[in-house]
Parts: sequence; C-alpha cells; structure tokens
Amino acid sequence: MSVLSFDELNALGKKRRSEPIEEYYNPMRISRKRRQKRIEVARKYRDALLEYMHFIDDYAEYGYLDEPATELLRSSIVELIEDAFIIAKTTEQNVEAVYRAYADRISKQIHESTMRNKDKDAYFLSEDRATLIGEDESNALCGYDELQEAFGYGKSKKTWHTVGDKAVRDTHRAVDGKTVPLDKPFSVGGVEMMVPRDPEVDAPEETSGCRCWLTFS
Ligand SMILES: [Zn+2]
Repeated sequence: MSVLSFDELNALGKKRRSEPIEEYYNPMRISRKRRQKRIEVARKYRDALLEYMHFIDDYAEYGYLDEPATELLRSSIVELIEDAFIIAKTTEQNVEAVYRAYADRISKQIHESTMRNKDKDAYFLSEDRATLIGEDESNALCGYDELQEAFGYGKSKKTWHTVGDKAVRDTHRAVDGKTVPLDKPFSVGGVEMMVPRDPEVDAPEETSGCRCWLTFS
C-alpha cells in the first residue's frame, strides 16, 4: 500500500482532473454495450459520491462523522452494484463477497482521504473528484463483471489490452496483448490481477486511472 490513497494519486500531475463521463471511455476499444454500461455505472457512482460529499459538507461541524458517512457511502456503493450487475452466486469465486469487501474498503479509503484533505483542498469535496472516482471505479466494477460473464459463457482465455497512449503505465504496456487462462491472474508490475483495475487489489500504483480492458476467447 502506498502512502497516497488511490484518488490522491489520481490527482497528481493532472491539471483538469476528470473528463466528461461520456468521453472518458472513448480511447478504450470496447463494444458500445460495454461503453454504455461504464457510463451508466460511472454516473451512479458520481451521484453516490456527491450525496456523500453533501453529507460531509452539511454535517462537518458536528464531528463523529466517520461511521455515518462511511456507512452512507458503503451502502450507496452496494446498492449501485446490486442495481447494475447480476451477481452470480454459483461461480468459483464468491462474487458477492468480493463486492462486499470492495465496498467496505473503498468507502473507508474515500472517507479517510476526504477528511484528511477537504480543508486544504476544495477538490476533495467537488464534482470533479466525484466524477473522476466514478469513472475510475466504474472500470473496476464493469471489468470484473465482464470476467464473471466470460466464466458464465464458458470462455477459457483472456487477453489484456491498453489504450496505447502516453498515459499507459510501462507495467501495463508490458502485458498488452498477453493472453492467460481465464482463471489465472496477470502479473502486472509484480501485482497479480485477475482483470485490469481489479476490485480485489489494493495497489493504487498499478490500478488508479487504468483504462485497460480484456477480451475473452
Ligand atoms: Zn492499465
């Protein structure tokens, strides 16, 4: 775990931090259906974060915010996952447990970095940040869902793709075009990932802002 949280890392080195949700996924050569899904999930995620940020802003003077704020965010994330994805309970992986652990971890991380930074930097309670996190996390959730779908369709292999621009990490460029068995992880910069932006992996240096995707065969 690096010192910077995932969205603090996202915030580095970029002047304008988020892009319009409708455009963010354009460099990814994915189907229209998959792009639409990412847009839909990103909007819901942004809205959940905005609701959370308003809560922080409205009740900041009362203290004791940690539990109710984290819980508000956690339950919104669980709700949007349940709305957006069919959660198969019969696959090898316990998908439901993965999503639950993800929601627990991400809501704590977002809350911690919000509380640590909000008085120093207005970005931390902004639509810009809500949008950026929503776009990034939508990739994590949709990519993971696509892997579950591939298991359901009996696919056996997966291939990693990058958008191929300058922002792609060297470690991700190194696995561009690489194919592995569906149930095996990719090794990306020494981190094992089942999918790009793997929601089970807490390694922001390898996942934050990643726009890689998989195809299945
Ligand atoms: Zn990537």
